[in-house]
Amino acid sequence: MTIHTSHPTDMKVTRSKIIARGLTNRCPNCGGRTLFREGTLFEVNKNCPRCGLFFNRGNDEGFFLGSLSLNYGVTTVCFLVPLALLAFYEVISARVAIVLALIGAFGVPALLYRSSRSWWLMNYYFFLPHHLPANGGVERAGEDTNR
Ligand SMILES: [Zn+2]
Repeated sequence: MTIHTSHPTDMKVTRSKIIARGLTNRCPNCGGRTLFREGTLFEVNKNCPRCGLFFNRGNDEGFFLGSLSLNYGVTTVCFLVPLALLAFYEVISARVAIVLALIGAFGVPALLYRSSRSWWLMNYYFFLPHHLPANGGVERAGEDTNR
């Protein structure tokens, strides 16, 4: 993938800002702690109550599936594979490994859900920072700008 480093420097929100906001579950556009509905753990706001940026890009299910698969990828690589290796080399018993794998397969993605959701958003705007309204991008409700 090509990163356009020669993009005009008049962008208000730089890539490093987008990464910093993504890692801290903040709105990539205004930096507000607005990604998740107040008082809930997993309910993602449709758009930012502060600046109006759409977090759910239209009815884009691929966006959600992307964050979900990212989730399971991280779970598998960082949790299930090391667990399988520990069991294989008999550091832990197979029974313990299976129990931990079952807990982890459901628990880890739930724990990661919030962050992966934010990381996915960060990933998107990292490559397309000029899509941010703060950078002059036109974000329209319910429209897929990739079409
Ligand atoms: Zn915002």
